[in-house]
Amino acid sequence: MENSSVAAVNRPLNCTYCNTAVAQPDNFCITCGYPINGTEEDQRFFVSERNALAIDLEDHHKKVNQAGKSLYWLAGATLVWGFIQYGITASKGIDNGELDKPLLLVNIILAALYLGLGLWSRKKPVAALVSGFSLYLIVQILGTIGDPAYLFKGIIIKILFVGYFIKGIKSAMEAERLKKQYYI
Ligand SMILES: [Zn+2]
Repeated sequence: MENSSVAAVNRPLNCTYCNTAVAQPDNFCITCGYPINGTEEDQRFFVSERNALAIDLEDHHKKVNQAGKSLYWLAGATLVWGFIQYGITASKGIDNGELDKPLLLVNIILAALYLGLGLWSRKKPVAALVSGFSLYLIVQILGTIGDPAYLFKGIIIKILFVGYFIKGIKSAMEAERLKKQYYI
C-alpha cells in the first residue's frame, strides 16, 4: 500500500524512454509505447526490444547506403565509359567521318538518371532502388542484345552491383515494415 502510493507520487510526468509529456492515467506513452505503468520487467523488455530494433535499422541503413553508392558508381562509370567510347569513335572518325554523338548523349542521360536515383534513394529508398535496379537490368539486356559478349564484360563487378541492389531493396523494404510496425 505504502509502496504504491510512493510510486504514484514519484510517477514521472515525462516518458522515461522518449521524454514525451504523458498524462497520469496513461498506461503507455502515446509517442513511443513505453509501458509507463508497467512492471520493471515490462519496461526493461521494452528498452531491450527498442535497442535491438535500432541495431536492425542501422544494419538496413548500411545496406541501403551501399546500394545508393552503387548508383553513384554507375553514374560515374557510365559517364567515363561514354566519353572513352566517343573518343574511340572520334579517333576512327577521322577516317570515315562519323562520330557517335547519339551514343554519347544516351550515356550522359543514363549517368544523370543514375545520379538522380542515387540522390532520391536517401528519401525514398524502395522506389529509387527498384527504379535504379530496373534501369540497370534494362541497360544490361539492351547491351547484350546489341552484342552478346557485353553480358560478360566486367561480369564480377556486375554480379557485385546486382548483389548490392538486391540487398539494398530488401533492407529498404524491411526498414519500412519495421518503422510502420513500431510507429517510428
Ligand atoms: Zn515515450
